[in-house]
Amino acid sequence: MGVLHDVAIAGDGPAGAAIAAACADVGLDVVVVGPGEPWTNTYATWVDDVADVIDTTAVFAAPPLPALIRTTRDVAVDRRYGVFDNDSLREQLDIDARLRRGFAVDLTDHHGHAAITMTGGSVVEADVVVDARGASVATPVAWQTAYGVVVDEHVVDGRYPLDRVTVMDWSGNEQAAAPSFCYVVPLDDGWLVEETVLAATPAVEPNALRRRLARRIDEAAIEDAERHGRVETVRIPMGVPVDRGTGRVVRFGAAAGMIHPATGYSVAASLRAAPRVAQAIAAGADVHDAVWPASTRRARALHDYGLGALLRLDRDATTSFFDAFFGLGTDDWSAYLRVDSTGREVARVMRRVFAAVPWSVRRELVELDVNVVRRLLRP
Ligand SMILES: Cc1cc2nc3c(=O)[nH]c(=O)nc-3n(C[C@H](O)[C@H](O)[C@H](O)COP(=O)(O)OP(=O)(O)OC[C@H]3O[C@@H](n4cnc5c(N)ncnc54)[C@H](O)[C@@H]3O)c2cc1C
Repeated sequence: MGVLHDVAIAGDGPAGAAIAAACADVGLDVVVVGPGEPWTNTYATWVDDVADVIDTTAVFAAPPLPALIRTTRDVAVDRRYGVFDNDSLREQLDIDARLRRGFAVDLTDHHGHAAITMTGGSVVEADVVVDARGASVATPVAWQTAYGVVVDEHVVDGRYPLDRVTVMDWSGNEQAAAPSFCYVVPLDDGWLVEETVLAATPAVEPNALRRRLARRIDEAAIEDAERHGRVETVRIPMGVPVDRGTGRVVRFGAAAGMIHPATGYSVAASLRAAPRVAQAIAAGADVHDAVWPASTRRARALHDYGLGALLRLDRDATTSFFDAFFGLGTDDWSAYLRVDSTGREVARVMRRVFAAVPWSVRRELVELDVNVVRRLLRP
């Protein structure tokens, strides 16, 4: 038998890197199997969500800014939001130092330990194998899709503030069904302006989103970005089921369903969960429970209910919904947007939103499941 590692991780995305770094931090011997390709998605987060788990001073592509949310009105949020510089994040998590380049073809759990079999036949053995190969779902509940271009500041100037990140602009939305918002964030060399459908089924295709984007910013700016390859298309499976793995093979990140059903985000969730899971591995505790503790599984059931509601709302109802949502205290809506909030926290926010939306929107929510709504309304 070769080296027996404490932990072997399949998948070198943000989740694999986060859990690897956290395992190393608690003194575990860890190896990551993955292709070692750079991350090309523009990953963003609310800075305070990750401030306790990473060094936030030098990890963003541009200085994080406070946020703006535009519904029927402008809501200024003094919570900073930033896009990661992926190379810096990789470096901080030290992924390359732990990487064994290649693909995992099989993850097994037998004879008292676990193993990753790689293409070519080599085997990496460990006490615990973490499957962080990302979301692979044949039929997600819905898709988040977006079409974005990186443009010069002057394209954004006058349309959106330059001293804030516009996390959502629901104005100027002509589509009644599968409504989209504009997302406007600074990068190190321009601004990403992205037309986004939070969740829809079937998925809204990039061409349709491009047409919507062209109603917001100049066609010439879009074409210029396309000519220079500064385009991002997003397709995120939403409602990916919770799957904690079995035995010595534990799932983590998008592979474990740690994608927030209302935002499509998972990077902050993985960074936040990694120390908890690493500690459980080191202590020989229940690792599956550490990935999805009971309280967060209850929250997830409510988040899934929220996704179902979102899918039913048309443009006007969606705008009213977010009007009410971001009209709550920042602590409230922030808690809703975290994967690791407790069921109690999420239920409280849902009750408050329910109380704040117009009756027309409440009817849509009630139609889904009267019993859930009754529970939500219970103080
Ligand atoms: C364009 C885009 C933008 C996004 N923006 C955000 C954002 O701003 N904020 C946010 O929180 N989330 C964002 N997401 C959503 C989500 O957080 C990401 O999908 C995130 O990458 C999930 O991280 P992960 O590490 O769990 O999975 P992945 O990023 O999918 O990583 C899986 C890794 O495993 C590797 N792999 C796959 N198969 C194998 C195998 N057989 N053997 C070994 N390795 C393998 C892959 O190469 C990959 O590196 C975005 C998604 C997209 C597509």
